Amino acid sequence: MKYISTRGQGGEKSFQEVLLAGLAEDGGLYVPAELPQFDLEKIRSLRGLPYNELAFEVIKPFVAGDIPDAKLKEMIDDSYAAFSHEAVAPLTQLKSHQWVMELFHGPTLAFKDFALQLLGRLLDYVLTERGERAVVLGATSGDTGSAAIEGCRHSEALDIFILHPYQRVSEVQRRQMTTVLDSNVYNIAVQGNFDDCQAMVKQCFADQSFLPRSSEKKTRLVAVNSINWARIMAQVVYYFHASLELGGPDREIAFSVPTGNFGDIFAGYIARGMGLPVSKLIVATNRNDILHRFFQNNDYSKQSLEHTLSPSMDIMVSSNFERLLFDLNDRDGQALAELMATFEKTGKLSASEQSWQKIRELFDSSRTDDQDTCDAIKALFDRTEYLADPHTITGIRALEELETDSRTPNLVLATAHPVKFPEAIEKAGLDTPELPHHMKDLLEREERYDVVDNDLNSVKKFIHTHL
Ligand SMILES: *Cc1c(COP(=O)(O)O)cnc(C)c1O
Repeated sequence: MKYISTRGQGGEKSFQEVLLAGLAEDGGLYVPAELPQFDLEKIRSLRGLPYNELAFEVIKPFVAGDIPDAKLKEMIDDSYAAFSHEAVAPLTQLKSHQWVMELFHGPTLAFKDFALQLLGRLLDYVLTERGERAVVLGATSGDTGSAAIEGCRHSEALDIFILHPYQRVSEVQRRQMTTVLDSNVYNIAVQGNFDDCQAMVKQCFADQSFLPRSSEKKTRLVAVNSINWARIMAQVVYYFHASLELGGPDREIAFSVPTGNFGDIFAGYIARGMGLPVSKLIVATNRNDILHRFFQNNDYSKQSLEHTLSPSMDIMVSSNFERLLFDLNDRDGQALAELMATFEKTGKLSASEQSWQKIRELFDSSRTDDQDTCDAIKALFDRTEYLADPHTITGIRALEELETDSRTPNLVLATAHPVKFPEAIEKAGLDTPELPHHMKDLLEREERYDVVDNDLNSVKKFIHTHL
């Protein structure tokens, strides 16, 4: 399997190169040069497999040749053995033709564990093989940081530094990061806001000369945000899983996906490209609705950031959307590079009328504000006693709002456990649920983090002295 950049430069890359690089050198994102194809017979043969075995079958062609099968299998098995539900991604029916797939039974209670559990292991293996070490560096306003820490904590070849805005993340979210006491894990509480954290991470990647140089081992920075292809790859699996549970591939299925950076739903688009019968992909947004405006009016334009009750979907631009735009531009890297340059200058872009019409046949969208989020959480609970988190509910609302084919199963991706977002649950007038069994003592556990000035040199110095 070979990978290319959406901006057309740099030639073909291997899976390992793409894994370690994150972003391509030309500023583009990596995508497979060609997608593996699964015909209906092949998909039928996957029916009834346990999640980890299905994951191996779906992931194998993306990694082909770069990691031995037995090693890959072992990493996948270990990743999903850490989940607290035996089905890994259980489905619950809410009403006729409507299901949720719960993606929050991993160690940090959000869907990001599906990718980051595997990503940490893949990085560890590849770096060890190469005799290299790496520093994982990221900024978080919530879910990504804890999932990345859980994914990397056992790695011999990785140190991980996560910046979060001091006193601006919820207690549960902070403690999910700061109570991990492994010696390669560093939590930096920056005396600034999330944008400050993100900007400093970017600047560290742009100039890595602050990293210590050791003669025998190379150290590099790696990114684990959702532009890393390996994350998308791991998420493709559960689209196959859902379909197979609901009569696929001999029946189409529609997916409704709470969306921010467009990584999770893009994995559904890839599954369909591999041959999975998917009738619709519904993008559910909160008030940060750049994608909704694109799919409704062909208007992809940047607006200011809104803070909402579903913070993991609070974005101004969707970093993975470039991967879809690449296909909409007939995979012409040159054309896409020009389009993105225009976007960087003007803050807006649109697709050609013809390709926009075409993509609208597959994608639809909806937008939910905070009030509707709370009302819908309450209404669903009153009707079914199912408590949805403020992200998941946007996907459920999208199905209520849009007309979908009543004979096709509709499946919502439940992206987080409601206990992570008590504010929205309380505003909906409901009691917050209890922490799951394996996290009962979270609020009593010992914490470790360092408060650092909102200043690039202080952050660089902190990293340097702890390596
Ligand atoms: C990250 C996240 C999302 C958004 O996923 P994208 O891949 O960025 O679209 C939605 N819900 C939750 C709970 C998340 O953590």
